[in-house]
Amino acid sequence: MAIAKPGSWTFTGTLIDFADDRRRCDFCSRPGMRFGCQVETRVKGGGKPVNAYVGSDCLVGAGFRLTDDYSSDQFHSDKSALMRDATQRAIVRELIRLKGVLSELDWAKEISLSRLIQSVQRYSLLTPNQLLFLLSINRRAKFDFPVLLLRVTTKKKAWRDQLSELGSDDTSTILPFLTESQRQWVHDSD
Ligand SMILES: [Zn+2]
Repeated sequence: MAIAKPGSWTFTGTLIDFADDRRRCDFCSRPGMRFGCQVETRVKGGGKPVNAYVGSDCLVGAGFRLTDDYSSDQFHSDKSALMRDATQRAIVRELIRLKGVLSELDWAKEISLSRLIQSVQRYSLLTPNQLLFLLSINRRAKFDFPVLLLRVTTKKKAWRDQLSELGSDDTSTILPFLTESQRQWVHDSD
């Protein structure tokens, strides 16, 4: 959708993480947009609002309406929290899609993802052991979980301990998904 009049579109306050499925900005058409700012407009004659997604530079620079009492300064200070929320919702969205795929597979019928989903809703990202579990399910089910969403949290000591206690196979599996600083928690098994 190409937006002609940004002034008739309003920011909903929500960002969407498109992860590996990057989009074009609906205003300037620039490709490679991972986080889309959701804007909406109402078509004449009522009905449901129509949504579109634009990059944050376009949102604040091209004349889109921000919600009442919401300034572009406010948007910039909220942006990282909005992105974190977007990523969390994207992980949950993909876990629910995976759940649907697993329910069709004989060997996977008993696997429940409910606790995993609840944990992501609480802690935003996956724990190291959850990531390893997910990677193995992913492989067996030939599921394409978006790589950009496979990130772990090491906020709690218990999760850092999970990293330091990994065997060498798990270590090489998980290493590509860790940040530079998280790699320091991995026991060097060489
Ligand atoms: Zn744009």
